[in-house]
Amino acid sequence: MTHGFETLAIHAGQEPDPHTGAVVPPIYATSTYKQDGVGGLRSGYEYSRSANPTRTALEEALAAVEGGARGLAFASGLAAEDALLRALCRPGDHVVIPNDAYGGTYRLFAKVLANWGLEYGPAPLGDLNAVRAAIRPNTKIVWVETPTNPLLGIADIEALASLAHEAGALLVVDNTFASPYLQQPLALGADVAVHSTTKYVGGHSDVIGGALVARSAALGDQLAYHQNAMGAVAGPFDAWLTLRGLKTLGVRMDRHCDNAERVVAMLQAHPKVTEVHYPGLPEHPGHEVAAKQMRRFGGMVSFRAASEEEAVALCARTKVFTLGESLGGVESLIEHPGRMTHASVAGSPLEVPGDLVRLSVGIETIDDLLADLTEALG
Ligand SMILES: *Cc1c(COP(=O)(O)O)cnc(C)c1O
Repeated sequence: MTHGFETLAIHAGQEPDPHTGAVVPPIYATSTYKQDGVGGLRSGYEYSRSANPTRTALEEALAAVEGGARGLAFASGLAAEDALLRALCRPGDHVVIPNDAYGGTYRLFAKVLANWGLEYGPAPLGDLNAVRAAIRPNTKIVWVETPTNPLLGIADIEALASLAHEAGALLVVDNTFASPYLQQPLALGADVAVHSTTKYVGGHSDVIGGALVARSAALGDQLAYHQNAMGAVAGPFDAWLTLRGLKTLGVRMDRHCDNAERVVAMLQAHPKVTEVHYPGLPEHPGHEVAAKQMRRFGGMVSFRAASEEEAVALCARTKVFTLGESLGGVESLIEHPGRMTHASVAGSPLEVPGDLVRLSVGIETIDDLLADLTEALG
């Protein structure tokens, strides 16, 4: 019997504890496990970098909700990305990256993995011909973010998967912005889904974490080998918090989407807003693709103010929207990407417009959110 998304999020990998009946997998705060004789493991666990039962519960739940063969939980999204790239690439290989990639992802390529010999080339992923032109004989991975951060660009996962596979490359999708509830990249042909579980999966702005979910068992085993060999694993307490967040992902995402739609309508009607970026808008260039591959359009919204000064000033004027980096938590956040989350891409081809404001629309009472933004816009 196959189960629906919410059932998997709440139960996959989370059978009641056989000893006590505890409904919630405990936090196994242990580094090692007693062996019954040399090499005689009681339960498959020997050392918590290799595996820990709390982390296993999260990993099985993540694999189930993404529809993959294997899930792996890391200390952060960037730790997951680093493990993936160094597991699957060798110095001299090339990766096509989005020309508006998450700033930290860009920094990992440009400042860390470039020193190790990994080549990368930014391409506008909404333009399939541009992606085809960016693929080289040594391209190992096409790296996709959709929707992108902070401009909410949309890439066609299914089309990019065929394109990558024809070129002998893998398709990797950073599914952080959509979350597995809104978008299932593996079902669309992607080989690996990447998450910063810090965002919607954790959902409460109280834990940093990352995940990889592989479509095939072979790829999952290769990544698991590197997870253990490189060591940037999620600790049991972090895994437990992330798993608690995952259980309510579906209901939270629906409210994030409801609230974002109302915020978008308000911003569109506001005279001081020059442009609103949201894939749910019919005029958004990626709307059709988004409607095809996403359940709904998400909780992230960005918009252009009259000027950079105005954008910076209004970020400091909201009271319910908290000025801060990150996204995907129950509380609404506002930020200026150019000077905050995306400061690391200033001067690069990935630089973002100065008049851009990014919102992570939370699940507070919608009237309070609308009143707060209206007041701040003046
Ligand atoms: C936050 C984020 C990351 C990095 O994740 P961390 O948990 O902060 O290391 C990667 N991709 C996207 C799209 C993000 O928003």
